[in-house]
Amino acid sequence: MSKKNPDSNAQHRPDSSLTFAIRLMQDLVVPTFVLNAERRVIIWNRACERLTGVSASEVIGTSEHWRGFYDEPRHCLADTLVLGQTDDLPTLYANHTHMSDTELGLRAENWCIMPRAGRQCYLAIDAGPIFDEDGTLIAVVETMRDITQQKEAQMALQRLATKDGLTGIANRRCFDESLAAEWHRAQRDQTPMALLLIDVDHFKRYNDTYGHQKGDDCLKSVARAMEEKIFRPADLIARYGGEEFVILMPNTDVNGARLVAERIVQHIHDLAIPHETSDIGGLVSISAGVAASIPFPDLGADRLLAAADSALYAAKHAGRNRIASKEVAAAAD
Ligand code: GH3
Ligand code: MG
Ligand code: MG
Repeated sequence: MSKKNPDSNAQHRPDSSLTFAIRLMQDLVVPTFVLNAERRVIIWNRACERLTGVSASEVIGTSEHWRGFYDEPRHCLADTLVLGQTDDLPTLYANHTHMSDTELGLRAENWCIMPRAGRQCYLAIDAGPIFDEDGTLIAVVETMRDITQQKEAQMALQRLATKDGLTGIANRRCFDESLAAEWHRAQRDQTPMALLLIDVDHFKRYNDTYGHQKGDDCLKSVARAMEEKIFRPADLIARYGGEEFVILMPNTDVNGARLVAERIVQHIHDLAIPHETSDIGGLVSISAGVAASIPFPDLGADRLLAAADSALYAAKHAGRNRIASKEVAAAAD
């Protein structure tokens, strides 16, 4: 028989089993801290010290555990469980699971600033309650997993899924989703919203004259030119399809949108990209359709798109290299 490890008897001796339990907690590879019912830190294990850069001696006996994760005082997941303030979860966490029975604990995910560690981390966090025999809450254990790499990979994939492969600006899917969200917001806040549909003039001839590869380069130049003339971060430039682009401008009325459209039409003209088979000065030009509205009830975003499309058609019809606009207004009653 092999020699018995003296520690294997630990659970049979009350004092040693306590020592063992504390050591288990301290050396657990999962970053863990424990709050008592007064929200004071009673355990801050080594993995938690490594993750946060905050030593146990700094936080044990205090309620300063937030310092490991944030640069200003706020509740951590364990605090909300001790306090029974689960209504605060949506404002505190990017992602959370609101268990119907808080006796099962809470689960959340969040970007944490980690001021002492000096790097931002995306943490998956669990907070589990511990009760005594009478069912009274005596402590909450919070464990964390650093899932920054997975989160960054997921964000990179999301970015790829929303970008147009040729020009690098937003793709049609991203535009459709943004339009739905912004339209909803504009409807709720009763703020104006504008759309700009932009189409390259005589682009078929351009391809026929210079080849598809040069055509692609031209589309990239047009996308860059639009980016250079859009200054508000809330505006979204997207490739609508083929040689058509769209700009979504929240909080913008028809006059504001016309100014932007004029800037872009002028800028593309000034780039003086040769287009010898175009009848517009032998240069690449664009036409733009502008539509704007304060979304009154029952007005769908598709109506704004249709108005921008019909304005674009009007600009083409009037000779290209110009803008036309439409304001969508509620019918007078
Ligand atoms: P208009 O002034 O009326 O807009 O005439 P247009 O020739 O620009 O319009 P039309 O719709 O007849 O032709 C659009 C052309 O755009 C045809 C298509 O081959 C080209 N095109 C669409 N997508 C791409 C692309 O990704 N790369 C290139 N090089 N060409 C594209
Ligand atoms: Mg077109
Ligand atoms: Mg065209």
